[in-house]
Amino acid sequence: MLRDAHHRTIQYVRLSVTDRCNLRCTYCMPEHMQFLERSELLSYEEIERSMRVLASAGVTKLRITGGEPFLRKDLLRLLEKLTPLMDISITTNGVLTAPYIPALKALGIRNINLSLDTLQADRFLQITRRNRFPQVMATLESLLAHQMNVKINMVVMDGINTGELHNFAALTRENPLSIRFIEEMPFNGQGKGFSGINWHYRKILDTLNEKYILEKLPDETASTSLNYSISGHCGTVGVIPAYSRTFCGTCNRLRITPTGGVKTCLYGDDVMNIRDSLRSGAADSELLEALQTAVWHKKKDGFEAAAANRRSQHESMSVIGG
Ligand code: SAM
Ligand code: SF4
Repeated sequence: MLRDAHHRTIQYVRLSVTDRCNLRCTYCMPEHMQFLERSELLSYEEIERSMRVLASAGVTKLRITGGEPFLRKDLLRLLEKLTPLMDISITTNGVLTAPYIPALKALGIRNINLSLDTLQADRFLQITRRNRFPQVMATLESLLAHQMNVKINMVVMDGINTGELHNFAALTRENPLSIRFIEEMPFNGQGKGFSGINWHYRKILDTLNEKYILEKLPDETASTSLNYSISGHCGTVGVIPAYSRTFCGTCNRLRITPTGGVKTCLYGDDVMNIRDSLRSGAADSELLEALQTAVWHKKKDGFEAAAANRRSQHESMSVIGG
């Protein structure tokens, strides 16, 4: 098992399979990114091997993220190898996703988080610096048509999209969607200045309450979101206090960067490197031991982790794997 000194057990891994992206969301990365060389990335064989080791240590859930995961060549080939090992979900920006939906469904992958911060094409261009709104909306439609479990991630940005909170909540009236409003975090690779947030989760909830009567749903185990139903709506809404960090106490997550860096906290630095271990000839048992040691030292919460690490505050979320 992977246990830390604060009595938490790791069962959930988020793996960023590439740092590359076809959007340039201002809260995530600058326009001109220095992307990694392919040889620096964990290979599919290295990913599969390390996921086997993690599965043997009790990890049951894996989220594939990025960068944009569908930019990684032959992603389906990797997913075919991983679906027998763990319950897989994917976070995607939806630009290239639509044609893959039937194949994902055939592999048993039903849980898709789609990032969408606005319902307006001009604002989409302003936020992502790319004109891909129609493709993303087509993906959303197709996901719903294929009855996938869809969560929309909406990063709430002061003065940019806060006027759209009610419109997003309105989407849940007819559609079985979960909309999750996310507090903005500092990890923008210096694409944008960051000096804290005005829109913390309580303010988001207060704004939703102006129009809707929210009813709190029971918290799922180790969930990062607080979820609510709205009377008469078939979908739900939620808030993710990603900056306020109210969920650290039950954290069961580990992050792996595209180069195999292991993060035991979103706000912390890499604490070991899977790729370097494997390429220096580590046996599975040695890799497991290194992971167990890294997890044991997981910081109590994101504030402690941030205090110990100044560097990652400037990292892009595409590397951390949001
Ligand atoms: N490219 C894919 C996408 O956008 O869904 C997957 C990777 S993206 C880094 C994963 C999630 O992180 C997205 O939902 C995105 O909105 C979120 N994210 C990125 N930067 C963020 C930031 N600075 N604050 C809060 N959420 C952020
Ligand atoms: Fe790309 Fe996702 Fe980052 Fe936007 S949030 S730039 S889509 S990795």
